[in-house]
Amino acid sequence: MGNTTIKRAYEISCAHQLEGHPKCGRIHGHNYVIDVEVSAEVGAEGWIMDFGVLDARVVKPTLDMMDHMYLVSNENVLSGNMFADMAINAGQAFVLGTDRSTAERISEFLAREFFVGVAKMMPLFHVSVTVHETSRSSATSTCYFVNVEETKILLTAVEATE
Ligand SMILES: [Zn+2]
Repeated sequence: MGNTTIKRAYEISCAHQLEGHPKCGRIHGHNYVIDVEVSAEVGAEGWIMDFGVLDARVVKPTLDMMDHMYLVSNENVLSGNMFADMAINAGQAFVLGTDRSTAERISEFLAREFFVGVAKMMPLFHVSVTVHETSRSSATSTCYFVNVEETKILLTAVEATE
């Protein structure tokens, strides 16, 4: 059998800033629509995974921490951005750990997070995450299964930082 892909949509609201950009450098927000795709073989239950399990164990733990938060990127910290400082001090920030908070970087961050989350439970081929910043603009990142050894190394690295 080949692989099948399931897809589920989520929505979060976040503030962010892209340092130095004439428009996006001002503090503003998006209602991000986030499509999560999991590609794997359909199991004996007739599904790839229960959507409820995808929500509860993979996607929601991360998205709930990001929702209604200021997404802080490394450039916000390095530039001494006062809104980022205030959000961090007020417990209203989510630190992405990426260089910038572009849709591309957010989708890369989430694809890796969710790939690891699914890989802890079952074998899979890939996880794709599309981050829609507006109804016309989005970025998609895919985290691929390479082989068992590389997946183990990825999971070990993530566990070491948790
Ligand atoms: Zn923006």
